[in-house]
Amino acid sequence: MTENRIYNFNAGPAALPLSVLEEIQESFLSFKGSGMSITEISHRSKQFDDVINDAVARTKRLLNLGDNYHVLFLQGGASLQFCMIPMNFLPEGQSADYVNTGTWSTKAIKEVEIQNKKCETVASSDDRDYCYIPKNISFNKDAAYAHITSNNTIKGTQWDQFPNVGDVPLIADMSSDIMSKKFDISPFGMIYAGAQKNIGPAGVCMAIVRDDMLKRVPEDLPSMLKYTTYSSKNSMYNTPPCFAIYTIDLVLKWLEETVGGIEKIEEINRKKAGLLYNLFDTSEFFRGTADKDSRSLMNVTFRLPSEDLEQKFIKTAQENGFGGLKGHRSVGGCRASIYNATSLEAIETLVDFMKTFEKENG
Ligand SMILES: *Cc1c(COP(=O)(O)O)cnc(C)c1O
Repeated sequence: MTENRIYNFNAGPAALPLSVLEEIQESFLSFKGSGMSITEISHRSKQFDDVINDAVARTKRLLNLGDNYHVLFLQGGASLQFCMIPMNFLPEGQSADYVNTGTWSTKAIKEVEIQNKKCETVASSDDRDYCYIPKNISFNKDAAYAHITSNNTIKGTQWDQFPNVGDVPLIADMSSDIMSKKFDISPFGMIYAGAQKNIGPAGVCMAIVRDDMLKRVPEDLPSMLKYTTYSSKNSMYNTPPCFAIYTIDLVLKWLEETVGGIEKIEEINRKKAGLLYNLFDTSEFFRGTADKDSRSLMNVTFRLPSEDLEQKFIKTAQENGFGGLKGHRSVGGCRASIYNATSLEAIETLVDFMKTFEKENG
């Protein structure tokens, strides 16, 4: 741990790799010898063109995307995608399937309903406070698309295997687990992710959209709400969030070149999450809230025997250099968000601290 830096378990905005922050710092006053910082350079310049093209190329390599996928950068967060998806991909007279696995799925469904468009919640885990991922779901063969939330940041659950939806395009909100583990892109018509969890700072949302989906985009939408506006202008129809895209590029460079790619980070992520879940499985004191077969590798949610002990735990952890362990305000309890940038060493140190806390308070 570097001086003054804490172990950061924030859910989002979240920890970034230290080497990325240092690279930003080093090149901040004069980006690539330009005499300007990245925040002062024109988005129409060669320098920025190189940055955005590099971010796209790295995304394509890391996720193994064919030429039929377009990597786009949008503002408005993952939340704007909740309404843009039905606007662009759900025509009048058709219906879309949604799986409701928690807060973010619920919000996505709400944005379809606001537009008076049709959707069906084909499965939901609300009967047990979203502590699991539904199984054996029947999707509609004629749905315009099927939407899931791949990782539920607040409830601490994650799809292990994606559902088989046949020929219906799958769309996933991957805000909190994009680039964390290997998956096959081919069933997906679109995936999207607010950057501030696993790939960068707040202010930009990455969307990866397949060619055939772009053909559905209606002509009469406002320009900024059409995916084709972004795909035809390399995400630079208007001024893009340059600094956020630059940071994503550095994070992806770190993932490719320092970590060694998605398979490597998945191995590390499984080890990291395993340390915490193993503690829950052997402790009477710490209790994981997600069903075992639905546990998230990214957001580990847990409870202590009482709310008083939880408060004491969060406070004592903070005093010992562990930040961000408070659960989401809507659910309480504790949560350790352990995205790509959180090191194995950080988790080992946290687990040691938790064992000591249990000994002293159990
Ligand atoms: C954080 C989060 C969002 C919201 O992202 P914004 O960029 O704040 O709009 C949506 N979905 C998931 C799964 C998230 O974790």
